[in-house]
Amino acid sequence: MLLSTLKVLFQHKRQVIPDLNKVELPASFRGRPILDRKNIDTEKLEQCIELCPTGAITATPFTLDMGKCLFCGECERVLPENIKFTNSWKLWSLTREGLIITAENSPKEVQSEIAFGPNTIKVKHPFRRSLRLRQVCAGGDSAPEMELGAACNVNFDMGRFGIEFVASPRHSDGVVLTGPITKKMASPLEMTYAAVPDPKLLIAVGVDAISGGMFADSPQIDRSFLERYPVDLYVAGHPSHPLAIIGGLRELMKSPVRRVAPQQQVKQ
Ligand code: SF4
Repeated sequence: MLLSTLKVLFQHKRQVIPDLNKVELPASFRGRPILDRKNIDTEKLEQCIELCPTGAITATPFTLDMGKCLFCGECERVLPENIKFTNSWKLWSLTREGLIITAENSPKEVQSEIAFGPNTIKVKHPFRRSLRLRQVCAGGDSAPEMELGAACNVNFDMGRFGIEFVASPRHSDGVVLTGPITKKMASPLEMTYAAVPDPKLLIAVGVDAISGGMFADSPQIDRSFLERYPVDLYVAGHPSHPLAIIGGLRELMKSPVRRVAPQQQVKQ
């Protein structure tokens, strides 16, 4: 018995990634884009704008909204000199505006920032060392949910940073929202959020949760929840990569800013 266990361990070798900061994703991974206005062909830019299924690109100013982008790569094929997707997994922001890439905020080389190191913040706040989260799939297509699961697996091992998913919202510090929020899920989402004790966090993972994605104009979705409650972290991607999910959550844990949502009555 022991021998066979040792044999399995030997065959699997070490699966956990010891230092997530050192992970370099393959060049084919479409991560954080870089924009460059130089010698831009305005006709081709208009073509990109028409081509983009979610209206993520604007011409004046020249921007690409990662909160709407499906990372399909069509715009890069039309304007390869001006729109370039790098393999950087830094796809999160604590603000919605932070997801909008411009020619000005695009460095030539996007370096992965040190995201997984120890918390340097000195002030005490409730989520500095541990985070318990309840996930709500509000009409998601299972892709972001699978990546959230992957973030917890033995390779990425999100639990090493004190971040875990829990079954009950009453035992959690916040809600991780995936999906564009269908009408049927609007009420369960609100009930779940209301059941989380204050102070609480709201985290939008994936383009559907951030902007509605392909379903933004559908009459079958109801996104009024996001007009009432502040989002603390946006993780872009379609779906979001586990490194982006963990990196974003780590940045959130290091951030001193905490917003307390208005008191909610839990509907029974
Ligand atoms: S990669 Fe993003 S911005 Fe470009 S066409 Fe696709 S969805 Fe639009």
